[in-house]
Amino acid sequence: MGLRARVIVLVVGLVAIVHMAWGVSDVQDDARLLRSEAERRGMEVLRALSIPCSVSLANREIETLDAVLARFAEEEGRDLDVLWIGILDTQGVVVAHTDPLQFGRRPSDPFTARALAADRPSSLEVDDVHGPRLLLTMPIVSGLRWGTATAAISLRGVEARIERNRGRALVLSIVLALSLGAVLALLLGRLVLEPMRLLTDTARRISDGELGARVPEGARGEEMVLLGRVFNEMAEEIQGQTARLEKLVADRTRELEAANSELGSAVAELERLARTDGLTGLRNHRAFQEALSFEVRRAGRLKQPLSLLMVDVDHFKTYNDAHGHPAGDHVLKRVAHIFTETLRSIDLVARYGGEEFAVLLLDTSTAAAQSVGDKLRQAVRSYDFPMAGDSQERGRITVSVGVATLPGHADDAADLLERADAALYVAKRSGRDRVCVHGDPEEPETTGGTGDHS
Ligand code: GH3
Ligand code: MG
Ligand code: MG
Repeated sequence: MGLRARVIVLVVGLVAIVHMAWGVSDVQDDARLLRSEAERRGMEVLRALSIPCSVSLANREIETLDAVLARFAEEEGRDLDVLWIGILDTQGVVVAHTDPLQFGRRPSDPFTARALAADRPSSLEVDDVHGPRLLLTMPIVSGLRWGTATAAISLRGVEARIERNRGRALVLSIVLALSLGAVLALLLGRLVLEPMRLLTDTARRISDGELGARVPEGARGEEMVLLGRVFNEMAEEIQGQTARLEKLVADRTRELEAANSELGSAVAELERLARTDGLTGLRNHRAFQEALSFEVRRAGRLKQPLSLLMVDVDHFKTYNDAHGHPAGDHVLKRVAHIFTETLRSIDLVARYGGEEFAVLLLDTSTAAAQSVGDKLRQAVRSYDFPMAGDSQERGRITVSVGVATLPGHADDAADLLERADAALYVAKRSGRDRVCVHGDPEEPETTGGTGDHS
């Protein structure tokens, strides 16, 4: 049951109860009034009757008594609803009665007995199988006590009227309570329920994301206007807070994205540095190993030859010792430069370690590799390195080269390296400044290399 229905039922119930209680007491007052009115009129009849009766009793004119009784019963009975009227003598014997059967009887009930002894009128309300009625007695006095007049008045009419009044009061209570309920429903709807519905609707729209929703103006009642105003202020605050939060999130997201891209470039740079030799700018040992295993697999797949040159600067220690490390560094940088200038762009050159370089020649046979190696050797030899004449055996910086080729000389990357290294060792042992291929025999050391060193 909704709030409106509950309030209305409560109020209607309360009003009905209060009005009924009030109506019942009213009806009871009315009933008392009606009964006492009946009694008063009954007594008047008896008093009026007692005057002619006292005369007839004194003269013992019983027939006259009957006629008087019949007239009174006839005249008064109509509007007073008199059931019977009787006259008792001083002995309590019925000497006249509207019911002839009562004549000569001596009623022995306590009320009649008391009335015979009393010198005042008395009354008694009785309600039994014969219906509600009022018994009245009146002493017949005229100097002497001559007897007692008694009468019974039916209260059926009075009771029926009381009942009617009670019914009317009930209907009035119900009608009044229902009209009050209707007025209340109208007022509740206008003052409370409609504004509450507006508040609820707006709250629901806000919770559905429509942050700009507001309670429309025009609510009735001071409290409702205030409530609507406070609600709108709260909605304003929520909208503001949300906007601020959204802006904050957007700012932070932008900052994070910027930081991420900086981080990305930093990581890329770090990766590049991790694979680059700091002195010469060539690939370092690690990058070379990766490239070697990749190219060995590719060459195997494409069934192409892959040659490896291991190049080592001859008597570099001598140069270093004579001219210092920085001068040695300069030579290494220059040698690296000469190599990159001399080689094809698809060849891979790396600083293998110290004064040793490795060169991968893609799709290159042993013979071609040997000739590339010799080209490198000659390029170095023909370069005028400063102070070389002062320290180097041949007055120049020279290199020795070892060559090995896949698939002829080796099966895998490690084998290839080992064979090229072995060939380099042979070149060194054969007098340096020369190119040796895997399998070349060691020559007795001469003063020059294989090229123009004779
Ligand atoms: P070999 O002909 O047998 O190769 O004689 P070598 O003197 O070149 O060989 P050895 O292994 O005896 O000496 C290598 C030298 O290379 C020793 C070291 O000081 C030098 N070296 C290695 N790395 C660097 C470097 O980065 N800078 C400089 N300046 N010298 C280096
Ligand atoms: Mg070396
Ligand atoms: Mg060396």
